[in-house]
Order: sequence, then C-alpha cells, then structure tokens
Amino acid sequence: MSGLFDLTGRVALVTGSSRGIGNALARALADAGATVVLNGVNAERLKAAEVALAADFGPGRVHSVAFDVTSDAEAARGIAWVEEHVGPLQILVNNAGIQHRVPMLELDVADWERVIKTDLTSAFLVGREAARHMIPRGRGKIINICSVQTDLARPTIAPYVAAKGGLRNLTRAMTAEWAASGLQINGIAPGYIHTEMTQNLVDDEQFNSWILGRTPAARWGTVQDLAGPAVWLASDGSDFVNGQTIFIDGGMTVVV
Ligand code: NAP
Repeated sequence: MSGLFDLTGRVALVTGSSRGIGNALARALADAGATVVLNGVNAERLKAAEVALAADFGPGRVHSVAFDVTSDAEAARGIAWVEEHVGPLQILVNNAGIQHRVPMLELDVADWERVIKTDLTSAFLVGREAARHMIPRGRGKIINICSVQTDLARPTIAPYVAAKGGLRNLTRAMTAEWAASGLQINGIAPGYIHTEMTQNLVDDEQFNSWILGRTPAARWGTVQDLAGPAVWLASDGSDFVNGQTIFIDGGMTVVV
C-alpha cells in the first residue's frame, strides 16, 4: 500500500489553475508530491497563483505557463514548454472551463461556440498534445473535469450541458485509442462546488436552498472534496481504472 498514492517526482499540468477548482487540484497534487505547472490566460493572475503556491511547496515544485487552451498552436506551445523547462509530463488535468447562462432561444451562436471550445474542444487539443508525448513513454494520466451536467440538464446552460456530456464521451474515446499505450484517462464530475464561478448561485437564496434540498449530503461541495479523487486518479492507485467518470456530488446524480 505504501507509495501507491505518492506523486513525488511526477510532473503535472492543470489547465485553468490560476484560481478555483483547478488551483485547488494543483495544490492537492503538489501536496501528494508532484511538481505542478499552473495555467491560465490572465498572466498577472497566473503569476500571483504561482507565487502563492510556491510559498508553500518551494519554487522548484511550482511553475506556470500562460496559454489559451482553445488554440491548437497555443496548446502545442504550452505542452512543449512543460516538457522542455519542467520535465516529462505525466499528469494532465483538463480543468479550464467557462459558463454562460442564457435561454437557448436567445443564445448567440458565438457564445455557444465559445463554451464548446473552452469546455470540450480544449480537452481534445491539450489532451492530444500531451498524449503525443506520453504514448512513446508508455505512461500518463489524463483527468478531464466534467460536471453533474455531464449527466443532467438544466435550463439556460445548453452549451455547458452539451460540452460536459461530450467530455465524458471524449474521455471514453481517448481510452479507446490510448489505454493500450499505458495511459489512463478518466473524468471527475464535481457537483455544485462553492467557487468564484458559482458565487452568484450561492448568493441566490432560492437557488441555494434548492441545492441543499436536492443534494443528499445537504451541502455545497468544497474544492477540498475533490482532492482525494484527483490524487487517486493521478496515481499508481488507479492504474486499471480506464475511461470512467467519477461523480463527486454529495449524491445529487443518484436521486430524483
Ligand atoms: P473558475 O473559478 O471560473 O476558474 C476558471 C479557470 O479557467 C481560471 O483559471 C481561468 O483562467 C481558466 N480559463 C478559462 N478559460 C481559459 C482558456 N481559454 N485557457 C486557459 N485557461 C482558461 O472556474 P471553476 O469554478 O474553478 O471551474 C473549473 C472547472 O470545474 C470547469 O471546467 C468547470 O466547468 C468545472 N466545474 C465547476 C463546478 C463548480 O461548482 N464550480 C462544478 C462542476 C464542474 P484566467 O484566470 O486566466 O481567466
């Protein structure tokens, strides 16, 4: 058992980790021993996040590279930077994501495409680039951050629902093509987690009480709730777990 969840010496890139869930996942992986690379678009916010994490783990254990996950060329540049400046990438967490709330009849195609690109296409672009390096080495872990909207729809968030549902099947498609090369690709589907992205929902009294009633665990999730599953899926402890999406949702998706 000892060492099964130890990530010492492994290089992990977490996209969208300048704040929110991604930042907490990077911290969890670092806490398990990994050398982590943070990512985001806003360079100033990213640098501040790197400095904050490095204060706890040391500068050699924390790096950052700004790139836009929706761009093929940028994804290639970002992964190449990690390989050259930090080391062979062993763990990729495709976490970067956005939300856009508007009824479907009023939804602009441009907004639909922006959400699909950021929440789904990005995992294909960054995942493919990472796999190009991982496959020849015969090992690698890719974790795609899904959502309860991978399984359940709600009004006003159609592109998000479509993207997150697609992300589960992309996880399966990656498994179909890359598992035989020693890669494990899985999804984590967080329930409602209190972050900047959901602060407006927490502040909405009606929505907040709906969440508490709709969740068997009767609370919002915390970023800390995602740490254990992320470390497990990044570690040798999950070496025969392939193509699964694990719901970390206080039981929301198992009840009506
Ligand atoms: P958040 O606080 O809004 O943070 C989003 C992160 O993604 C930021 O670091 C942002 O970087 C980055 N990002 C956005 N677009 C990007 C792009 N094109 N390229 C690179 N980075 C980009 O979001 P969150 O709530 O932590 O959510 C993170 C993930 O968890 C998302 O995939 C979301 O769908 C999923 N999720 C969240 C919840 C929840 O309750 N919060 C529940 C289920 C699933 P900048 O700082 O540079 O903008």
